[in-house]
Amino acid sequence: MTNSNNVDETFFYDVKTESTIPLFEFNITNTKKRVSYHRNNDTMNYHYGPFHPMKPFRLRLTDHLVTGYGLHNIMDLYEVDLSTNQNINILENKILKFHSIEYVNFLKNINENSDQENKKYLIKNDIDDNDCPIFHGLYKYCLNYTSTTLSAVSAIEQKKSDIAINWSGGLHHAKKFKPSGFCYLNDIVIGILDLLKTHARVLYIDIDIHHGDAVQEAFYMTDRVFTISFHKFGGYFFPMTGALEETGVSKGKNYALNVPLMDGIKDFEYTQLFKSIIGPLVESFNPECIVMQCGTDSLGYDRLGTFNLTVKGHGECVKFVRSLGVPLILVGGGGYTPINVSRAWCYETGIANDVILKENLPNNLPFKKYFAPDYSLYPNLGDSILNDLNTKNFLNDTRIRILENIRTLQGAPSVRMDSEYIPSKDLQDLMMYLKKDEKEVLEYDDIYDLQKEKTEKVLERERLMQMLKEDSRADFFK
Ligand SMILES: [Zn+2]
Repeated sequence: MTNSNNVDETFFYDVKTESTIPLFEFNITNTKKRVSYHRNNDTMNYHYGPFHPMKPFRLRLTDHLVTGYGLHNIMDLYEVDLSTNQNINILENKILKFHSIEYVNFLKNINENSDQENKKYLIKNDIDDNDCPIFHGLYKYCLNYTSTTLSAVSAIEQKKSDIAINWSGGLHHAKKFKPSGFCYLNDIVIGILDLLKTHARVLYIDIDIHHGDAVQEAFYMTDRVFTISFHKFGGYFFPMTGALEETGVSKGKNYALNVPLMDGIKDFEYTQLFKSIIGPLVESFNPECIVMQCGTDSLGYDRLGTFNLTVKGHGECVKFVRSLGVPLILVGGGGYTPINVSRAWCYETGIANDVILKENLPNNLPFKKYFAPDYSLYPNLGDSILNDLNTKNFLNDTRIRILENIRTLQGAPSVRMDSEYIPSKDLQDLMMYLKKDEKEVLEYDDIYDLQKEKTEKVLERERLMQMLKEDSRADFFK
C-alpha cells in the first residue's frame, strides 16, 4: 500500500489482482461459439535475419496482448507438441500430400552454410534466398507452424471448435517445389487437403495485401475448394498474379475469384466490397468450412503494404465471416509492422469470441513501450500518406464482374469425396511440363512422380491440356 491521500490512488490493484481482471466485455448479443487458440511457443524464436521484414517475434507480441486482455481464459488452448518422432512422421506424410519429396528433403537437410547440393537446388528452382533465407532451424520452424495449422484443422474436423485460430500459419505463397515470398511450407494447402477428407466443400478467403497465389494454384482445377483473394494488383507488386480474369480452369472453372485493388483503399470501401461479395458467394457455394487468411500487411502503415485499413476495418471482415455461421479456421500471413500485426490479431481473437476489448492496452504488458505513444489497441492507421486510387467506378465495375461470376455457379456442386482429383502442381511448372515432348515428359515424371502409374499420367496430361486451352494465363508461360 502507498501512503498517498491522492483520490486516484485510493483504489488500485496489486499486480496479481490486476492480472485477473478481464479487459473485455461480452457483447450484449453475445453469440457464443467454441473458440480454440493454437500455438507453439518455439515458433516465435526463429529469425529470418536482421534486415528481413518477416519477424516471427510478432507472434510473441500477439500472445502477450491476447493473454494481457485475458482472452486465454475463455478459449481452448492448444500447445502443439512436436517432441515425438511419431508426430513428426504423421506430419511429414501430410506435408507430402502437397510438397514434393525432393523439396521436403532439401528443407530438411539444408543449413546456413549451404553445401554444394543445396546450392544446386536453389539455382535449379530459381529460389530467391534473399526473400526466403536459409536460417538456423528452418525446417523445425516450418514443421512448427504447419503442425499448428493442422492442430486447428483437427479441432474443426473433430467438431471440438467452431472457430480455430493459428496466427503463426497462413504462409500462402509456398509452392509445391520451392519457397516463395517468405513462405516455405504451405500450411494452408496442407490444412485444406486434410479438411477435404471430411468436408465436401471448403472456401478459402485471403485478405493479405498480396495475392494468395499458391493456394489458388493448388486448387485451380477443382470445384471442392473455392479460393478468393482481395489484394493489391498491378505493376511489379508481388507476386504479380491475381487478375480479375483468373477464375479457375477445367472442373475448377469459376471456383477461383480475384479482387484486384489499387493503393490506398480505406475501411469503408474495402469492407463494403468484401461483404457484398462474400455474402452471395457463401450462399451460392455453401461451404462446409471456411479457411480465412488474415494477413495484416493490408493495414495502413505496414512496412511493405500500401493500403489504409485500420485494425477495426480489417477485423470487420473477420466479424462478417464469423456471422455466417460456418466452421472457421483463422490463420495469419503477412504483416510487417509487428506492433500493428499483434493489435489486429488480438482484436480478431476478441471478435472470434464476440467480446469487446478495451481501447487502452493492458498495464502489465511486456514490451508495452513498443506501443507508444498511444498505447491503444486501435491506433489511427487510416490516414497514411497514400492516396486512395480506387475510384467509385472502378470498385463498382469490379463488384459487378465478380457477382456475375458468382451467379454462374448456380448453387453448390455436389462432389464425390473419394475420387476427387486435387491438383497440386504449380501452374508455371504445369506449363513447362506441357511444352516438353513426350519423352521429356516421362523424364519429368520420373523425377517428381515416382509412384504414379502410367494410366494416371495419361489422364493427368489430358486434364492439363484442357486446362491450358481454357486458361487465359497460358500465354504468359509460352
Ligand atoms: Zn502479404
